[in-house]
Amino acid sequence: MSWRRYHRFKDIESYIDYLAHTYKEICETVIIGTSTEGRTLKVLKVSSGGQNKPAIWIDGGLHGREWISPATVTYILLQLVEFRDKHPHLLENLDWYILPVSNPDGYEYSHVHDRLWRKTRSIPVGSKKRRPNPALGYWSDAIPYSVRSQCVGVDPNRNWDFQWMKVGGSSNPCDDNFAGHKPFSEPETRAMADFIMQHKDQIHLFLSLHSYSQMWLIPWGWTDTVKPDDYYDMYVLAEKGVNALKAVRGTDYLLGTSAELIYASSGASDDWAKGVAQIKYAYTIELPDTGNHGFILPASQIESTGQETWEGVRALAQHFAEGYN
Ligand SMILES: [Zn+2]
Repeated sequence: MSWRRYHRFKDIESYIDYLAHTYKEICETVIIGTSTEGRTLKVLKVSSGGQNKPAIWIDGGLHGREWISPATVTYILLQLVEFRDKHPHLLENLDWYILPVSNPDGYEYSHVHDRLWRKTRSIPVGSKKRRPNPALGYWSDAIPYSVRSQCVGVDPNRNWDFQWMKVGGSSNPCDDNFAGHKPFSEPETRAMADFIMQHKDQIHLFLSLHSYSQMWLIPWGWTDTVKPDDYYDMYVLAEKGVNALKAVRGTDYLLGTSAELIYASSGASDDWAKGVAQIKYAYTIELPDTGNHGFILPASQIESTGQETWEGVRALAQHFAEGYN
């Protein structure tokens, strides 16, 4: 493993296994499910033991093409596990659940076939491989029977079962933001949601890493007219993260709701974590850059992105490690 180039899924999976094998006393892999194409969704649980400790969830790679996200999540693992002596309290007082690649099929497809692939790789209901189901309603006659390549897959960040399809998702399987024929149609989002629900009372902080645009996003994404009652709490904590991140080398992040900063979209994981799992602090972090390279961020920026993002995450973790909630 290195942070000088982007790795394929099997390398990242090997790194998770390596950590679990080498640091048995604090690391454990938990297989939470399987992708459409059969890849394993492997969470690394990092814990020094003990009962009822607050936990932090971090996932990466929900969108295939956002390669800096899994790279940054593995950098966080490097710091958390291999350099644990620098910050023992972050393990003594907290548990961590970390899923570096939550859409491995899309990630691999973006490496092999289409660098800008965003979605999962599920075959749409109604295509040749499955029987058409007119009762589902969305399968338009305009779509040819043999499905075009872009009509495969679902946008996994429009697929979560909270305000699903209210805004910003498409009902057309050929669109990049296709929300799925039903909420949690995708095995990847389903597996994550099931795992998070099982641990929802323990998880105090939910972080989903995406790219790009350098924004620290706070729910709600589904509406720009209503904010959560405790929005101010969420804002203040996120501000600590953004400030700690900026202190490393001056990288500026915008802070606010995605509805305010970008556009409203529903069915995203952070809204679900907040609205359904009731995790008070749920954020989406849009990593660098602001559009110069966009999704094609040069590998030479992995380390610096990892360093500053780790400082941001560490500032939030510190808050919970000190016993606040
Ligand atoms: Zn994304």
